[in-house]
Amino acid sequence: MGDPEVAAVVVGAGVAGLAAAIELQRETSEVLVIDASDRPGGALRTDHIAGYVIERGANTFQVKAPMLELFRRVKLEASLVRAQPEGRSRFIFRDGRLQPVPTSPLAFLRTPLLSARGKARLLAEPFIWRGDGSGESVAEFAGRRLGAEVVRHLIGPFLTGVYAGDETQLGAAAVFGGPVALERRYGSIALGGVLGWRPGRRRGLRGSYSTADGLGPLARKLAARLAEPPALRSRVTEIRLDGRHWQISISGPAGDRQFRARRVVLATPAYETATILAGVAGDAASALADIVYAPIVGIPIAVDPRAVRSRIAGFGFLVARDAGIRLLGALFMSRLFPNRAPEGRELIQCMLGGMGWRDAVDLPDDVVLRELHADLDRILGLRSEPRTLAITRWRQAIPQPDRDHVRRIASIREALAKLPGIALAGGYLDGIGVASALASGVRAARELMRERSPA
Ligand SMILES: Cc1cc2nc3c(=O)[nH]c(=O)nc-3n(C[C@H](O)[C@H](O)[C@H](O)COP(=O)(O)OP(=O)(O)OC[C@H]3O[C@@H](n4cnc5c(N)ncnc54)[C@H](O)[C@@H]3O)c2cc1C
Repeated sequence: MGDPEVAAVVVGAGVAGLAAAIELQRETSEVLVIDASDRPGGALRTDHIAGYVIERGANTFQVKAPMLELFRRVKLEASLVRAQPEGRSRFIFRDGRLQPVPTSPLAFLRTPLLSARGKARLLAEPFIWRGDGSGESVAEFAGRRLGAEVVRHLIGPFLTGVYAGDETQLGAAAVFGGPVALERRYGSIALGGVLGWRPGRRRGLRGSYSTADGLGPLARKLAARLAEPPALRSRVTEIRLDGRHWQISISGPAGDRQFRARRVVLATPAYETATILAGVAGDAASALADIVYAPIVGIPIAVDPRAVRSRIAGFGFLVARDAGIRLLGALFMSRLFPNRAPEGRELIQCMLGGMGWRDAVDLPDDVVLRELHADLDRILGLRSEPRTLAITRWRQAIPQPDRDHVRRIASIREALAKLPGIALAGGYLDGIGVASALASGVRAARELMRERSPA
């Protein structure tokens, strides 16, 4: 007897894989989702510890159009909980204090985060000669258009907080695709923002989101929309093409198995996708293996606000490069969403490591905690030691799209388009956030559904 056959296999039950499978189900109920872990969700993972709801991976997400459409279709829109309005205030730690991140033109003019010269340079943006951001780093592109101070004091901290990365290595076209395109089209980001603005264009939702009980439960709800539950603890080791069928090799609790499918979505991180593809698309596999990931150590802490000198309010804080702080940033989760901490306590999600402190994931707990407490003391002023709720080490947490990223991804997609019935999804392709990962899953499924396979 031959290997069992299904219409489609999705490898990876992170948000990208779950979205791809839900989308594929519009055409067939025979979709098998396979994941190496013991639960669906990948980097969406929530635990309840001592009355606190803690996130191990992603903390909040944006709701872009593909996510909103998918959630509406599978009746999950009502699960979305928007962050409290106070979450609109964000801070940067610089010159020994937390300073508000300017969000309006007036706030930019008033902020002490930039000198008068830095502000004048920023205002000169529409008069700066047009360049080509497509091969530049973020630091080169933004430095050229907005000035070195904006890069150092605003963009640098932002990229450290979001990408755990370094603006001199991250690629402008991948990270700031919108502004790079505005410069190309209008010669200026500011001018392009005004001239290119169309009312009613936004089709996603404003703000940051979670669900009432965190992101892990959201992944479980998505998985519950599948006709068949994901096969867990099952690692795909390789895939091979046999005529127009893919042969998928899995090693799991029941030993080694093989499946056949006409359609495959690989929704695994780039380095895993590289291994799976090595035998069938060598060049694409080595391009995938070149994508670097930043490590992260996530440490949620419980705080009695009376034991902290600063007021805990707003979304959280980022850290200026010259502040001498190792912490990448922190989110005030209990200020953003209800029921994250017991009454009278605050939950602060701290992130350490990143490209600037890659060893952090390999250091013992006490060493990392000592650094964290010293940093928190400088930033918030601790009257007593906060309580550590968990320590989660992600060796390969956040992809770092470099100057070549856009070109690299295009060439990988081009190579795979030559093979029948296979597509990639994941947070390393077109954007590192949950919303982009989900959108990549929808896109992969649609690519396969569009492809016409002969009967
Ligand atoms: C610490 C951290 C904090 C973050 N914070 C945020 C945030 O606040 N907001 C935001 O928008 N984004 C955040 N992100 C990014 C976001 O979580 C990811 O972009 C998104 O969840 C990626 O989804 P994915 O499905 O592409 O990959 P993943 O979630 O990594 O899922 C991949 C899945 O593939 C499985 N897998 C791997 N190899 C195999 C194999 N060989 N066979 C079978 N299965 C396999 C894994 O078990 C996993 O379940 C954060 C990420 C991390 C790590």
